[in-house]
Amino acid sequence: MKRAWRFATQAVHAGSGPDVHSGAVMMPIYQSSTFAQSEPGIPRSYEYGRVSNPTRTALEQNLAALEGATHGIAFASGLAAADAILKCLRPGDHVLCSNDLYGGSYRLLRSVYGPLGIRSSFVDMRDVDRVGRAIGPNTKLFWLETPGNPLLHVIDIAATAQVAKRHGAHVVVDNTFATPFLQRPLELGADLVLHSTTKYVGGHSDVIGGAICTNNAQWETRLRFQVKCAGAVPGPMDCFLLLRGAKTLHVRMERHCANARHLAAFLGQHPKVDRVYYPGLASHPGYEVAKHQMSDFGGMIAFTLMAATLEDTLRVLAGCEVFTLAESLGGVESLIGHPATMTHASIPREERIAAGLGDNVLRLSVGLEDVRDLENDLAAALATA
Ligand SMILES: *Cc1c(COP(=O)(O)O)cnc(C)c1O
Repeated sequence: MKRAWRFATQAVHAGSGPDVHSGAVMMPIYQSSTFAQSEPGIPRSYEYGRVSNPTRTALEQNLAALEGATHGIAFASGLAAADAILKCLRPGDHVLCSNDLYGGSYRLLRSVYGPLGIRSSFVDMRDVDRVGRAIGPNTKLFWLETPGNPLLHVIDIAATAQVAKRHGAHVVVDNTFATPFLQRPLELGADLVLHSTTKYVGGHSDVIGGAICTNNAQWETRLRFQVKCAGAVPGPMDCFLLLRGAKTLHVRMERHCANARHLAAFLGQHPKVDRVYYPGLASHPGYEVAKHQMSDFGGMIAFTLMAATLEDTLRVLAGCEVFTLAESLGGVESLIGHPATMTHASIPREERIAAGLGDNVLRLSVGLEDVRDLENDLAAALATA
């Protein structure tokens, strides 16, 4: 039994010692669809690439170690991971979700699983009492994201998980925004942690991937069965890229957090900025809970422009040179997005504005550039508003 390793050591080493065949220090890309059997029906350790692959196993063990989980299962995308969880439900089952879920998760629940008889409802999970009231007899899963998208709403994972436990429901936490470096939901009572590894885990905006980590052996069996049956698996090259990303997660997250903290403070005192949403600001309603359940506050910021028309807002977007206008997040490069016309465009306008997502909301994924250049870029862009 190995000594207990801390996060950074796990990130660098978990899942990948030197390759047993060559001594290669980095896990090789096992680009093979099938594996030789010693006797018919008796695979050595790997059999067929849909079921498992050594490069994928290395990634899965690494991610499991980072989440403090016994099991990690890699998928071809974050939504493929979400899909595998939902396929384990039955018609009539109910999923209770936080009301600022990633748009793709919302669409999957509503448009794919709704017609198949899986019911979903959406509540503001910042209010634990409201969560309790929204539970029905068939509520099988709680599905939450914290910090949420794009206003960084913070949900108390431990308190919410207690409510779920009392009703025999299991808890899925989408930990894409926080990453295990900042927040470990399984330790707070979650049953499943979901990742879009496309974001911070990969970290370089060059690969799509997803993962689920759990300590629950039954869930592991069910999910591996989904992998075997449906095969939404990442290829060996993608696993290699994701593993390479995971090895520097802790270093990158420290800088993402430091840069975001600096920019949140800058935006907070800027005359053209109305509100800043960053869980690390004492003025953020989720600050106390975030301080409790996260080790730092992450690299995502949202803010609203003072009395801005849609045209003003679009001008600020166009005025950015370092921040790239794009969806997604978590890469080394800084991105800026406009939820109203991009990530959240499919929400009806009235509903969107009622949820605090007016046309003047902007979202930043703060990257790893020199923070002075990021500040100057925002200052120049804001001058156009
Ligand atoms: C991007 C994202 C997803 C979906 O992941 P893909 O890898 O794009 O399929 C799910 N949840 C959150 C919070 C995300 O940001």
